[in-house]
Amino acid sequence: MARLRGIPPTIFTEMSALALATGAVNLGQGFPDVDGPASVLEAAATAMRTGANQYAPGPGAPALREAVSRHQERHYGLSWDPVSEIAVTTGATEAIAGALLGLVEPGDEVVLLEPYYDSYLAMIRMAGGVRRPVTLRAPDFRLDIEALRAAVSDRTRMILLNTPHNPTGTVLTAGELQAVAEVAIEHDLIVVTDEVYEHLTFGGVDAQGNRHVPIATLPGMRERTLTLSSLGKSYSLTGWKVGWAVGPAHLVGAVLAAKQWLTFTSGAPLQVAAAYALDAEPAWPGMLRDSLQERRDLLCDGLRGIGLPTTTPQGTYFATSDISGLGWADGNAFCRALPERAGVVAIPVQGFYDPDRVLAQNPGRHLVRWAFCKRPDVLADAVERLARADLSA
Ligand code: PMP
Ligand code: GLN
Repeated sequence: MARLRGIPPTIFTEMSALALATGAVNLGQGFPDVDGPASVLEAAATAMRTGANQYAPGPGAPALREAVSRHQERHYGLSWDPVSEIAVTTGATEAIAGALLGLVEPGDEVVLLEPYYDSYLAMIRMAGGVRRPVTLRAPDFRLDIEALRAAVSDRTRMILLNTPHNPTGTVLTAGELQAVAEVAIEHDLIVVTDEVYEHLTFGGVDAQGNRHVPIATLPGMRERTLTLSSLGKSYSLTGWKVGWAVGPAHLVGAVLAAKQWLTFTSGAPLQVAAAYALDAEPAWPGMLRDSLQERRDLLCDGLRGIGLPTTTPQGTYFATSDISGLGWADGNAFCRALPERAGVVAIPVQGFYDPDRVLAQNPGRHLVRWAFCKRPDVLADAVERLARADLSA
């Protein structure tokens, strides 16, 4: 199919299959090995037992749209109308698909941070849009505002942001976001911002302590920003695939215009339980963040201890290491050899960069990503396996 041609298959499926086939410790695909709160699991079971089993309304169960509205108000002081300004989607993935299919005309340019989450590439492609990547460069992965300005043209329709950022762990600062906002306002652009890791940011050395700032909170941005998030990361329920899009009615309406033909409506009982999670377990994501910060340090210290330069992420549950010192020029080859060499699976970061580049020009060719949303004993085991193995090229 022309629309799908040139979109590489998702690396996550391949790497998780490799982990299963080899029995390796899977630090590849990002999913926790401990489920979210028991009360939320119970709420889902109750919702099923008490009859929330037929189609929910297309835009989402009212209870969840109202809970998302309260969540945005409580955390960020943003108030949104649950009826017209919030839509429920099947994970953030469907919100991304809906936003791109609903807002990008063939030939429109989308400026996005590179490395980028792989579904952005696929959905820009399916929408007929044109990618304009702005590269976050190792080892700090900060946003280069001049590069952002240079990427914008009179064909640009949208800036697609992701903060906290997968795979680098960068949390954009209020200053960086302000600069993005200025560009968006100056060129009258829509900003779509993927904030699925909104609650997973770690204390840092800068003044804002790596706190997540939604760009929709900045002056002049509410009316041009579509914010996407989901339950999966904040509540360790990645398999539930309950997400949402929040923004002015015309942007949310565009997502729904596409969503009605993608899934029509998302899983009804899980929406009820997701509403319960947001309202009744508001402290849970903070506890997850605190425990993740310890696990981040365990993994990053362990990786550095075996000689791998590793960037400490400010948010998300991913850390990246530079493997060039081991003699590897190609992270893909390293990650394919790793299960056999060490019994560990990681994700090559090069696949999150523009596929049109040759390997030598891929800024992520020597980077690999490790997920630390795993139990401490699993992380310690992975580090031990890596320490014992011969990792040289
Ligand atoms: N965006 C980013 C940056 C992600 O890391 C993920 C995780 N898979 C998603 C979107 C998709 O979220 P969901 O599982 O809710 O579809
Ligand atoms: N967001 C997770 C990751 O980046 C899972 C992605 C997926 O399975 N599509 O690893």
